[in-house]
Amino acid sequence: MDYEELREQMVITQLIPRGIKDSRVLEAMKRVPRHLFVDVSMQNSAYDDMAMPIGDGQTISQPYMVAIMTELLELSGKEKVLEIGTGSGYQAAVLAELSKDVYTIERIASLAEKSSQKFSLLGYDNIHVKTADGTLGWTEEAPFDRIIITAASPKIPDPLMEQLALDGILVIPVGSRYSQQLLKIRKTKEGMLEEYHTPCVFVPLIGKHGWE
Ligand code: SAH
Repeated sequence: MDYEELREQMVITQLIPRGIKDSRVLEAMKRVPRHLFVDVSMQNSAYDDMAMPIGDGQTISQPYMVAIMTELLELSGKEKVLEIGTGSGYQAAVLAELSKDVYTIERIASLAEKSSQKFSLLGYDNIHVKTADGTLGWTEEAPFDRIIITAASPKIPDPLMEQLALDGILVIPVGSRYSQQLLKIRKTKEGMLEEYHTPCVFVPLIGKHGWE
């Protein structure tokens, strides 16, 4: 399999036609080896236009969803980013290509360990992983310039809003357990600016400030 060619095709057929414009995001999606974040038996379909199972009932998001959430974060390369829901680690790797440091929290220990190993193997030494309830945030490392939640939430967890820096951006799928919409929030001196984007379906955010 020519994975580099598959990545190029993914960008040309799935991302650009749907409106992803940030050239840094498109380049990062061409670089990150998505097939190494799924099971060996599924590597050949890793660049298909869909989410895929990663074990423990969890999923790696569809490439387009990773791209749009990343684009909404407006990363320049200097940011300290918090991700809730490490899962396969793929989204964290894309973020790590485009920001200074990525702090990522996963509630399932086996997934956190597996993605940790991948980050070391691939040389992503700017990604920091911990197993915990991400709805509580990562107090010792706050504030964060950007926060991305990659699991479906009934509302924005209060601790995450508090841990977002002034002028920071937070992106989260909010809604019911079975369907959500991407919400982008900018924290300004005057208050929170909210913008709704594409409808989406994520696995539930389970924790103190998420679903039970
Ligand atoms: N970003 C991932 C996709 C994650 S799927 C990727 O690129 O592959 C959502 C993940 O969120 C699942 O792994 C799930 O276990 C995790 N999750 C759900 N609730 C959580 C919580 N409260 N804290 C941390 N992780 C959580």
